[in-house]
Amino acid sequence: MTDAFPYSLDNKRYHTLHYHNRQRFGGRVEKAALNGGFTCPNLDGTKGTSGCAFCDGGSGAFTHALPLQEQLAAEQERIARKCGKPVPMIAYFQVHTNTYAPVEQLRALFTQALAFPGVVGLSAATRPDCLPEEVLALLAELAKKTYLTVELGLQTVHDRTAAAFGRGYAFAEFLAAYRKLQALGIRTCIHLINGLPGESLADMLKTAETVGKLRPQAVKLQLLHILSGTRYAELYRSGQITPMTREDYTDTVVRQLALLPPETVIERLTGDGEKAKLLAPLWSADKRKTLVGIDKLQAARDTWQGKDFRG
Ligand code: SF4
Repeated sequence: MTDAFPYSLDNKRYHTLHYHNRQRFGGRVEKAALNGGFTCPNLDGTKGTSGCAFCDGGSGAFTHALPLQEQLAAEQERIARKCGKPVPMIAYFQVHTNTYAPVEQLRALFTQALAFPGVVGLSAATRPDCLPEEVLALLAELAKKTYLTVELGLQTVHDRTAAAFGRGYAFAEFLAAYRKLQALGIRTCIHLINGLPGESLADMLKTAETVGKLRPQAVKLQLLHILSGTRYAELYRSGQITPMTREDYTDTVVRQLALLPPETVIERLTGDGEKAKLLAPLWSADKRKTLVGIDKLQAARDTWQGKDFRG
């Protein structure tokens, strides 16, 4: 690469969230992680009761959910401590399926979050089978008023893998929902997981290539974390799951980045699993080392986001 990658301010070879936020907000923005008190159709019996095999039910950090205002105030304080000053926040509804409720309940919750001082946008993590027409209409309305992102947990485009971990919907269902979101002009971030049992490097690259062709506004890449209390924890303990090595993960991500269009914002390159629950791979707890490894491998191979993208 002769010129610097255009979508980074700090010499990265991928489209950083830092760059995106600078362009969009003129400075630093942080996510306030919130629990809206939702459940999930994969847990409440609608689609299943045992959830995805890697799911720990959201995060232990949110077990005792406070009223929304108190959560926002606590997150505002945490963010100010981390950044050394108050920073604008995106209200990020993160736990379980954050559009899985009657539309008027969603409207009240999202409106309350957006009214909180310092909140400049909204993000909701959800599933494609939890976006009925009335919810899409609400999201389209909000997207006109604020910076809205819908985060869709796809994990893989391969239905056989998804059936094995119990996702509860097919790739075709994801595609239909994704297209509706795009048609409504709703910024969409697709979540992917590398290292799912039974997936080869070719499978993971196929997922990145397929998702890249959809030209999503954002992608989060994540490593499979085996967390205590999940179904994968049992399989791991009985030796039926082998977690990815750091080398394999780094190699996979570098190849995937080359397959994604440069305009897609990379909102995450490795996971933020709860350390107290992490059984494997333990190397993933050193997030910085993983990120540095990705930078170095991209440079060594002289590759960058979009290098192998064929729209
Ligand atoms: S869809 Fe999300 S919240 Fe529901 S079981 Fe799967 S990972 Fe857990």
